[in-house]
Amino acid sequence: MSRKFTDNKLVIASHNRGKVREIAELLAPFSVQVISAGELDLPEPVEDAETFIGNADIKARAAALASGLPALSDDSGLAVEALGGQPGIYSARWAGPTKDFTIAMEKVEAELAGQDDRRAHFVCALVLCWPDGHAESFQGEVHGDLTWPPRGEKGFGYDPVFIPTGHAVTFAEMEPTEKHAMSHRADAFRQMVAACFEG
Ligand code: IMP
Repeated sequence: MSRKFTDNKLVIASHNRGKVREIAELLAPFSVQVISAGELDLPEPVEDAETFIGNADIKARAAALASGLPALSDDSGLAVEALGGQPGIYSARWAGPTKDFTIAMEKVEAELAGQDDRRAHFVCALVLCWPDGHAESFQGEVHGDLTWPPRGEKGFGYDPVFIPTGHAVTFAEMEPTEKHAMSHRADAFRQMVAACFEG
């Protein structure tokens, strides 16, 4: 039985503005005041786990302990089938110190050169951690194919090269509401809401 979320404030344990915006949009139907780790000036912990859930746990735990409030973290990334799941947990690092995702997308495309298999999936691990250390974790996925060149101005990260299965446009060409209905983050969110926010 999962622990229910009964507080009215939640820290989003992320310094990534794209993610904070998406999580706030997904939490909008619930009467929860959302504060980002950046607004609270919380330090960014070292993410040295080997899984998405492990890294999400590090971030949520650090934010909950530092703020004294429940914290929700998201660790996510792009797994490319022909690259053995890379960049995976290193998705943010492929963008280099300037966090330039044009570079990261070009790197993926260069590694894929000559490959016919362009399948990829996004993974999103969510961890909700309370200040007493109790945590609940969830993992969502969305499958699709990579396209080149990048298309679209919406979204963030690798969105301009990812076309979800059954669609003709990239995540960056979709309206946020359309992406939210099918994304890896939405999948993980649905699981978290069912376990911790409903009933
Ligand atoms: P981290 O979880 O902060 O270590 O970084 C995950 C990285 O994966 C992000 O910086 C993005 O580049 C990528 N990523 C995660 N979710 C999405 C998404 O919804 N769209 C595009 N890229 C994403």
